[in-house]
Amino acid sequence: MTRKLFVTTALPYANAAFHIGHMMEYIQADIWVRYQRMQRDGDAQREVHFVGADDTHGTPIMIAAEKEGITPQEFVAKIAAGRAQYLDGFHIAFDNWYSTDSPENVELSQGIYRKLRDTGLISTKVVDRFFDPVKGMFLADRNIKGECPKCGAKDQYGDNCEVCGAAYQPTELVNPFSVFTGSTPILKPSEQYFFKLSDPRCFQFLRDWLNTPGRLQPEMVNKVSEWLGEAGEKLADWDISRDAPYFGIPIPDAPGKFFYVWLDAPVGYLASLKNYCEKKGMDFNALLNDPATEQIHFIGKDIVSFHLLFWPAMLKFADHPVIDKLKVNVHGHLTVNNEKMSKSRGTGISPLRYLNLGMNPEWLRYYIAFKLNSKVEDLDFTGEDFVARVNSDLIGKYVNIASRCAGFITKKFDGKLASSLSDNAQAWIKRALVTDAGAERQASIAAHFEAREFGKALREIMEVADITNQYVDDNKPWVLAKDEAKLAELHDVCTTALILFRQLTIMLSPVLPGVAANVRKFLNDAQLVWADTEVSTGAVWNTMLGRTIGAYDHLMKRVEPKMIDDLFDAPAPAAAGAVAAAKPEKAAKAKAAPAVAVTETGIEVIAPEISVDDFFKVDLRIAKIVNCEHVEGSDKLLRLTLDAGEGRMRNVFSGIKSMYQPEDLIGKLTVLVANLAPRKMKFGISEGMVMAASAVDEKANPGIYILNPWPGATPGMRIS
Ligand SMILES: [Zn+2]
Repeated sequence: MTRKLFVTTALPYANAAFHIGHMMEYIQADIWVRYQRMQRDGDAQREVHFVGADDTHGTPIMIAAEKEGITPQEFVAKIAAGRAQYLDGFHIAFDNWYSTDSPENVELSQGIYRKLRDTGLISTKVVDRFFDPVKGMFLADRNIKGECPKCGAKDQYGDNCEVCGAAYQPTELVNPFSVFTGSTPILKPSEQYFFKLSDPRCFQFLRDWLNTPGRLQPEMVNKVSEWLGEAGEKLADWDISRDAPYFGIPIPDAPGKFFYVWLDAPVGYLASLKNYCEKKGMDFNALLNDPATEQIHFIGKDIVSFHLLFWPAMLKFADHPVIDKLKVNVHGHLTVNNEKMSKSRGTGISPLRYLNLGMNPEWLRYYIAFKLNSKVEDLDFTGEDFVARVNSDLIGKYVNIASRCAGFITKKFDGKLASSLSDNAQAWIKRALVTDAGAERQASIAAHFEAREFGKALREIMEVADITNQYVDDNKPWVLAKDEAKLAELHDVCTTALILFRQLTIMLSPVLPGVAANVRKFLNDAQLVWADTEVSTGAVWNTMLGRTIGAYDHLMKRVEPKMIDDLFDAPAPAAAGAVAAAKPEKAAKAKAAPAVAVTETGIEVIAPEISVDDFFKVDLRIAKIVNCEHVEGSDKLLRLTLDAGEGRMRNVFSGIKSMYQPEDLIGKLTVLVANLAPRKMKFGISEGMVMAASAVDEKANPGIYILNPWPGATPGMRIS
């Protein structure tokens, strides 16, 4: 059976441009969609439909349009016109982008409502609601302000106080006023329509629905179960109506009443799919009724009550076929430097600013993917981590393979790859793509993508890159190229490296679609399909042998740390001290990059000869890293607590933060320069130095690698 996937993301409210949180969700969904599109079920290509829409209804949009003196329709059209620059800019490939203010959504929403009414799940009740007598309009809680009944703070909203955190009813506010006219709201009776979520049928259905395997993440099953209570006693009826004037969909047979925006917004997923089916000549109803169809929905943790209580219950009792196909994936929020984003504190990242600075959208896709897993966890963006991750993985490990090998194919072999591979080359390819236990790595990488464990997928892909680089380093094509007698070997090595580079590209292509498209052109590939990563079928190399490839053009630049400084909005004045304090360290870094002599093989020239006595002046000891932590205020340093067997601990700072997490180092052994004079640093005294290796060309290889002795060495042993 060919899987048919209908993939959706939460609909953005059409009163503002996208922020970085939207982009994170779209990137997550887009990677999953692109992975699925590379898959086949039997002989057939998997069918994937990825649709989105603007959520357009409700009071805030009506008021915003009124302020600009235009109709709500004109207002949302303006917002919609601005969407493409973000979506195209970050390679988000929705098949259709639509609107909840559309004939399809009116028809579907009203149809669902009629079915719910016929099933006895709609009730009406007259309730007193706040009314602005000047504007002639009912007011939502957020449209009313006044003094907090608990702490007396002025200018607080009708639902809760932002000063003391108290929650209350608008009726409790002292001196309440309408935010529109400043007039005192009056209470006016109004007939409201309710969806009867308290009906026992809803509880019974939701309990079973949630617990269907694969429907929700386990942490969400637990959370929603709590909301249901033991027997559904916590479920309350939901007011689905709003009074005119309101920008929304009219409730059938109820003049002057409109659906509350949250009723029709989630129906917008179906409306966008229906509109897409009409454009493509596909049968919408047949697709939804097909047992092979699944809807995969991506949303943030802040809007789950609407999506995991009301929405499924509405779909179920309206007999909508999509209810049995729905799987919801909830993600956490994006934080910046472990803080919730806040424009006023200057920690927000503007997606457009990112693009306008010339930053590569695929850096962000890779970074976000590297940090994503299938859990409902927040994801933190820090500038230094971003620079280190992108430069080390994408430039240092991935792009580097092609840039070191492709030129030789063009120059020495007229662009033609070898037509057969040596036994050694084949052995290396297997070593890179098959685990010691004999399993194909592509299978576990595919399983990680399917399960939305993108971080795990990328870690495993980078292991393949590490082995490939080791192969290139061991075989040194730049040395082979100097010896005419070794041309066949050079051909073999460069062909092998490019075969593995193509493998990496296929596996990275859901995350890096732009780079993958360029590699496809460079390698003369019609398309990149996942089936070409199978070692057992020979697909990995069969199509590559003897192939003529194009000239290599540089695929990706490294991130410059300066870009990160430019990316963040200018910090608030209070933070100026912190910026000034950080400057000396940066200046020192620039000064500390000396011009060093380099050999033909690209390493630093060996230092002048010394005697053995000179060597023994340096006392090198095995030390155990008993603790390791970040240094507040430093973008380079980690603080190490070392045991060198002296019966005391040493405090040593090391500039290895870009490469290691503290928890990766704790408990490990390393090499300490034990008799180095203590050095007073900005953050404290460093009692010695930990030895670490780095390349002379920091651009090509920005990594720094600490030493780790073989098993058997113990703290205090001298190295000689
Ligand atoms: Zn208060």
